[in-house]
Amino acid sequence: MKVNNVLDEFLNAISVLQQELLSLPQEIGLEYHQKLWEILQTRLPPLHQTYDRYVTSELATRENSISCGKGCSHCCRHYVTSVEPFEILAIHFQIRQRKDYPDLLFSSHARTTRFEQLLNKEGGDVEAEDRALYRYYLRGIPCSFLEKDGTCGIYENRPMSCRMFFSESAPRFCEGNAVTSGWNKNFQIELPDIAEEALARCSEALANLNLPVGLFEGVLEANSLFGQYES
Ligand code: SF4
Repeated sequence: MKVNNVLDEFLNAISVLQQELLSLPQEIGLEYHQKLWEILQTRLPPLHQTYDRYVTSELATRENSISCGKGCSHCCRHYVTSVEPFEILAIHFQIRQRKDYPDLLFSSHARTTRFEQLLNKEGGDVEAEDRALYRYYLRGIPCSFLEKDGTCGIYENRPMSCRMFFSESAPRFCEGNAVTSGWNKNFQIELPDIAEEALARCSEALANLNLPVGLFEGVLEANSLFGQYES
């Protein structure tokens, strides 16, 4: 599988999604919500598939093997951020159909509040967010969507920022402050600029919703916008 071929397919999937999002009604209401749901149901699965194929093709170019395995969820203690608006909306559509939806909102609110407290303590310099993200991680708070068996409860819709994260070192080096040791070999699969720019244009089509980049606060905001509509 050639990296460039898969990248082209991914770019095409982003472009199709963008075009359809641009055709959404101007006014945010029931019609907007129904159309949005239709678009995300149809267009996100192929986009995720091509993204995953891109990641697989990139991983194939690496010398060392990946140590990540099902149920190892150390990285699911990070505060999830850099999430695209269409990803937040797809996750919101998925979880609102679950019986534990109110619990998930409550849990997302608790995580958002905890992170804001840490961020406020760090002052306002350019590295404040990085320090707050690290301190949040050290607290070992599991993601709201992490299941008891260590699997992701929103696996098919999990954000790209989760899909891009891997390790070449033993799982114990992904736990607590071992992440800063020289033994930790975590890395992220970065997208080329052309793909980042295409994603930014796609997200721009949803700029009117003003969704934040954080997963937990994003889900809360999506609930405020669309929680009253049936899906
Ligand atoms: S969304 Fe899923 S993969 Fe991402 S941190 Fe949460 S449980 Fe882990």
